[in-house]
Amino acid sequence: MQPFTYSRPASLNEAFQLAGRPGAALLAGGTTMVDLMRGDLAAPSSIVDIGHLAELASFDTSGSALRFGALARMADVAEDATLLRDYPALAESLQLAASQQLREAATVGGNLLQRTRCVYFRDSVSACNKRVPGAGCSALDGVTREMALFGGSERCIATYPGDWATALMAFDTSVEIQSASGNRTIPLADLHVAYGEDPARETTLKRGEIITAILVQATPTGRRSTYLKIRDRESYAYAVVSAAVALEMDGDVVRRARVSLGGVATKPWRSHAAEAILAGVTLNEASALAAGRAGFADAQPLAENAFKIELGAHAVARAALVASRRN
Ligand SMILES: Cc1cc2nc3c(=O)[nH]c(=O)nc-3n(C[C@H](O)[C@H](O)[C@H](O)COP(=O)(O)OP(=O)(O)OC[C@H]3O[C@@H](n4cnc5c(N)ncnc54)[C@H](O)[C@@H]3O)c2cc1C
Ligand code: SF4
Repeated sequence: MQPFTYSRPASLNEAFQLAGRPGAALLAGGTTMVDLMRGDLAAPSSIVDIGHLAELASFDTSGSALRFGALARMADVAEDATLLRDYPALAESLQLAASQQLREAATVGGNLLQRTRCVYFRDSVSACNKRVPGAGCSALDGVTREMALFGGSERCIATYPGDWATALMAFDTSVEIQSASGNRTIPLADLHVAYGEDPARETTLKRGEIITAILVQATPTGRRSTYLKIRDRESYAYAVVSAAVALEMDGDVVRRARVSLGGVATKPWRSHAAEAILAGVTLNEASALAAGRAGFADAQPLAENAFKIELGAHAVARAALVASRRN
């Protein structure tokens, strides 16, 4: 680990000043950042610890927009009674992520910004365009089971690993960002950059910017939603494939659907193709699977990950059927 200075700002304004300095990195729960520093995958010259700033730690699920302070703990949000009843997909995505111990420390803002689990990125001897721009991509000729079906390029094919962002993509979600030079709110879809475009650049955040809150537009489709995560072990594992589905139903007919996919793309991936098939159909096993298959029609499989296409189609189908039975 490289030497670094540590500061613990007393206010958000002080955090903005410190975060804007060259070489500074934020620390929230630290469950990703400390790992990256230990592995020499991040070498900030200064750490700005914001984890204790109470003004960013609360969340409110009662209004016309759900508001999650960026420093709200994953474990607390996962247990919120309103979320569990009205937006089960969001609660489930947190319950199925990491472990209880990690969720007690990790924040919902930090979760959005976790980095890929690509083994070649984490192993400092392999060529990796994300770690060393221009070095090449070891995964292209390597083990591709975990790699992306969507959003990759000859520069990077790694998957975005987070569960929470995938579930949030099934709703109208935006991200509130603040810095010493001003505030802005952007759709969540504009926060992440597909790794294939520029592996070293993962988000559209600028130096000194802090995510202060995640906002979700309240919607009746929340009640009929679910997050389905398929993994190699039933706990404490990242998604091989995941699907978040939120539905508005009229009897057995789907009025409106939102579908997003995890474990298969280089950023949280909304599936407009699956949504289009679901809208207006009578939902049954056949129509749900047709939607799932549409969601993967444009997939670009590699040597060892084509199995995710059928698995993913069934994940979407099962999630749609589960969501439709909720009320
Ligand atoms: C063993 C293990 C298993 C895991 N399994 C899963 C899993 O199955 N699913 C899953 O989704 N996640 C999983 N995770 C990831 C875990 O959920 C994240 O590490 C955690 O959510 C990150 O939150 P944090 O508060 O600890 O972030 P930190 O580690 O403090 O920060 C993460 C990154 O975000 C930046 N950052 C933090 N807060 C802000 C902010 N407010 N504004 C701007 N930048 C900020 C930091 O500078 C850093 O770059 C796992 C992690 C571990 C270690
Ligand atoms: S897939 Fe991306 S993260 Fe993995 S080795 Fe290639 S460039 Fe690096």
